[in-house]
Amino acid sequence: MNEVRTSKGPAFPGLLEEMTVEYVRRFAPQVVVLPLGSTEPHGPHLPMGTDVWQVTRLGRIAVEAANARGARVLLYPTLPITNNVNFRRFPFALRVGVRTLMSMLIDIITQCRDDGVHKVVLLNGHGGNPDTIAATLREIAGMDNMPFVCSTGGLAPEGWDNPIEHASDHGGEDETSRMLWIRPDLVREDLLADNPFGQLAVPLLARAQFVRPWHQYVPLSAGGETRAASAEKGQAVIQARATGLAELLVELSATPWTERFPYE
Ligand SMILES: [Zn+2]
Repeated sequence: MNEVRTSKGPAFPGLLEEMTVEYVRRFAPQVVVLPLGSTEPHGPHLPMGTDVWQVTRLGRIAVEAANARGARVLLYPTLPITNNVNFRRFPFALRVGVRTLMSMLIDIITQCRDDGVHKVVLLNGHGGNPDTIAATLREIAGMDNMPFVCSTGGLAPEGWDNPIEHASDHGGEDETSRMLWIRPDLVREDLLADNPFGQLAVPLLARAQFVRPWHQYVPLSAGGETRAASAEKGQAVIQARATGLAELLVELSATPWTERFPYE
């Protein structure tokens, strides 16, 4: 085995898609991070791959930072097609069904176990997935000999000052800012606007759970004011979420695997 490093190799240790198989073996990963993105409409101004770009960048920053501190975290490629049933009235809102995504996650996590990894972090970057992820965690909790699995969308430090002025569920100032930092060449800044939200005919439903038909809720496939978006805000949001996530990964990696994990 040649231990001499050259300029060739992955952008950082732990970036699976850029590592050789021998490198991965020597790396002996303790934690796997699986990012979940989505390919779907994001209004007139953002690309269909917005969720993939964002969660991939978040994962890369956090895993690189954690591994620079001695963690051994393996970052998997981002899943680009996940749950999107409520977007089906728009073209090319790519999707697999709830049961399919559950099966995919269980298969991928089962292989983590087979490859000797006991701790898995699902890094979710798409609002259509949390219900399925929660159900998957429940399903896995009922199976024997499975890894420990947790889910997060990133962990900003407590007391962090969020610079986003206009909240939105989809394609608003937050996502626009993040894309202005990550891929400004893909943002149509000439089309930034205050995009409308559908209003509930039964207002109390705002406090109940239901699946929103996205063509009614965000008719332009993005909602909210985007004109205050900036690359600086986007960088602040992503780096804040990466900071806490890196901390979690360092702790998960360093904590020995026992039958009682994650308890002492
Ligand atoms: Zn999005």
